[in-house]
Amino acid sequence: MAAVFLVTLYEYSPLFYIAVVFTCFIVTTGLVLGWFGWDVPVILRNSEETQFSTRVFKKQMRQVKNPFGLEISNPSTASITTGITLTTDCLEDSHLTCYWGCSVQKLYEALQKHVYCFRISTPQALDDALYSEYLYQEQYFIKKDSKEEIYCQLPGDTEIEDFGTVPRSRYPLVALLTLADQDDREIYDIISMVSVIHIPDKAYKLSCRILYQYLLLAQGQFHDLKQLFMSANNNSTASTSPSPEETIADRSLLEKVGLSDSEAEPSEETSRDCVVCQNGSVNWVLLPCRHACLCDSCVRFFQQCPMCRQPVQESFALCSQKEQEKDKRKTL
Ligand SMILES: [Zn+2]
Ligand SMILES: [Zn+2]
Repeated sequence: MAAVFLVTLYEYSPLFYIAVVFTCFIVTTGLVLGWFGWDVPVILRNSEETQFSTRVFKKQMRQVKNPFGLEISNPSTASITTGITLTTDCLEDSHLTCYWGCSVQKLYEALQKHVYCFRISTPQALDDALYSEYLYQEQYFIKKDSKEEIYCQLPGDTEIEDFGTVPRSRYPLVALLTLADQDDREIYDIISMVSVIHIPDKAYKLSCRILYQYLLLAQGQFHDLKQLFMSANNNSTASTSPSPEETIADRSLLEKVGLSDSEAEPSEETSRDCVVCQNGSVNWVLLPCRHACLCDSCVRFFQQCPMCRQPVQESFALCSQKEQEKDKRKTL
């Protein structure tokens, strides 16, 4: 059938015949070469193969130093009536200001003000931005590099036992950390940290926790500080800690504009092994799930997270290739 068609075609127009045969030849050659993995234009490859060759987008990151650290000590014992103990860990002299019963709406308005014009770099600035929409305020001075335990409590005369039923218009506690020294504010990109803390009371018994931590930048942005989930392995660093996911709190990710915190300890880093090859050290964080579980050589094979099966939209390296080479040279 095809032969009869070709002969008839040749009789009518030899030139057109040659063109058709030549096109068929080119397409066949392209398909054969594509099959063997040669670098032919994607248009000639089958769709499955094109899908496989799409790489996960690598996020550009910038490291910034966060001078502030705040944690809750013994969250299980904290309550509105008995108070809460906070542990601070700051790289510079700082002020810790606690706003009890802070208005939710006014806090977010204050953060928006920070973005547009009114930078929140001092307790006074937040006070003004909140229009004093809180019930009680207390302030502490934090010496640099001292892990201080600070006990905060609402005074008895305020007679507040709960903040009502949910949804609420006030957060139980908002803690602001600011740099005490004017000179320090010019060194750091991050000028203050706002922690929103939930404390249980009679009306709402959800356990005590940090709900949000916002890092405020001198340039006007603010970012939600989020934890990374490191893969746990069998070696000593993981076994000494009760929950490996929570112990990496110091290593934080600023997701929105791709900033990464530089507080991580490299020694801890190298001791965590890749979940796939069990050999390379973990260096890649997958987004949006924030699992850090792959090494440099395995990351390229995964379009789904090996821990939770979520499709990977973006990924970023904890330590850039250049830095790793430097580290290697140092150890040699
Ligand atoms: Zn690996
Ligand atoms: Zn995951």
